[in-house]
Amino acid sequence: MNAERYHHYERYFQEYGLSDLDYPITPNEIPSIEDRLQIGINVFSFYDDEGRARYPIYVSQKNLAKTIDLLYWNEHYAWIRSFSRFMADIRKNRHKLLWCKRCLSHFSSENALDTHHLYCRRIDFSDLIYTMPPEGSKLKFKHYRYVSFEIFCALNLMSFIS
Ligand SMILES: [Zn+2]
Repeated sequence: MNAERYHHYERYFQEYGLSDLDYPITPNEIPSIEDRLQIGINVFSFYDDEGRARYPIYVSQKNLAKTIDLLYWNEHYAWIRSFSRFMADIRKNRHKLLWCKRCLSHFSSENALDTHHLYCRRIDFSDLIYTMPPEGSKLKFKHYRYVSFEIFCALNLMSFIS
């Protein structure tokens, strides 16, 4: 983001009564800014030279009517006007993809995205990790050709039980 745009953004924040904030604003200040603006804010960044290895820094947990996406890079923010263009290099058969902004998984239908959100938006999302059986216990498999699938199912089941 160039200096001119940065000042534009600074002015925008000041118009909304945020002139008491120190600039540049750090991502951990975003939740309080959301409260003051009554606008949800998602913040993304990237860690490669091409800007493709994107990851979310902060995804709004607030249920506000309007949400905007920002790119945070080099201590500055840029407004992501179109999230699908921001992710445009990832496409499948030219179909429009729907994105989970929390984990950047993509889906081709609203139904699939809604089902994903049931789990991905859970407050205890980070607790849903794979857990191993108690030390000394053994897993038994009847059909060895399905072993990897059964391990996958067993681990998934344990992650929901624990
Ligand atoms: Zn997700």
